[in-house]
Amino acid sequence: MIYTVTLNPAIDRIVHIPGELTRGQNHRSTATSFDIGGKATHVSVVLSSLNIANIATGFMGEGRQDVLIDLLEKKEVCHDFLTLPNEEVRESIVIVDETNKGSYMITEKGPNVSPNMLQQFKEKLQTTIQKNDIVVFAGNPSTQMDPKDYREVLEMIKSKHCRLVVDASDRYLQEALAVKPYLLKPNQYEFKELIGKPLNTLEDYIHAAFHFMCDDIEYFFISLGKEGSLLLHHQEIYHIIPPTVKQVNDTGCGDVFIGGLVYSIAQKFSVEKMCRFATAISASKATQHSSSDFELEQVQALMEKVKVNQL
Ligand code: ATP
Ligand code: MG
Ligand code: MG
Repeated sequence: MIYTVTLNPAIDRIVHIPGELTRGQNHRSTATSFDIGGKATHVSVVLSSLNIANIATGFMGEGRQDVLIDLLEKKEVCHDFLTLPNEEVRESIVIVDETNKGSYMITEKGPNVSPNMLQQFKEKLQTTIQKNDIVVFAGNPSTQMDPKDYREVLEMIKSKHCRLVVDASDRYLQEALAVKPYLLKPNQYEFKELIGKPLNTLEDYIHAAFHFMCDDIEYFFISLGKEGSLLLHHQEIYHIIPPTVKQVNDTGCGDVFIGGLVYSIAQKFSVEKMCRFATAISASKATQHSSSDFELEQVQALMEKVKVNQL
């Protein structure tokens, strides 16, 4: 089975404005829509759209839970979250202007997870996860969760001999790195923060990436937005370059990229096909307004145009 774990899900409020977002100016929105927020739930949406069985789990505040569950069910995502009493599902604001330079995002920190709820969650995972399952932790937990607790959960999952996939940032990324998951995918900003020094050119990233070459992490991706991604795999380094597309909204490209990677792992694709598929599906996502949509026909066409360069 594939499990996606969202420790701090959200409802995304996507607001479209004309022109460019400018300080001191009133922007009258042209459209507002709601979407599933929280990174691993997006991975579930991708997998469900590709007809791959998966279960979305994690914590969900009881307040506004119905809104999020409704959004998940509309996307045919099978869900099994632990409810946090007296807490609310947070709302994230995504502002999309007309400059095609990417969106702005404002998020809330999320609910408090009591030691008792954390223990319940660990026990739930402990009993359900089996050897060889794929377990995707994407998105940080609520900032109220101690990174050491996060690491303990990851360690417990890894000890079940499943394939652990992690997409996290800052302190949680550091903890995840120490656990040595099967697949790790920081984006360029998360990677820069991990390195702790400025990285400007592709060469800087490649140079820095070499320090992470190790056999314990099967796939180490660093995603670079429209510049593609770097992959460290079995002592080799690859630069994967997406075709040029008309970017409408890049929020969620990383989640769809991970969805594409997990799908490829489940389908036992070769490394090259995996890179082509994940890069094509995330490029297709960049052409869509919502956080996790893509066009399968476009993905097939884009796959041919992806470049996978071994460095
Ligand atoms: P998220 O908002 O989901 O957290 P991220 O910042 O983690 O995204 P990115 O590095 O922005 O992830 O994007 C992931 C992948 O999506 C890239 O490696 C690239 O292959 C693809 N991608 C992103 N933006 C574009 C684009 N404008 N054109 C083509 N491909 C893109
Ligand atoms: Mg990005
Ligand atoms: Mg990301």
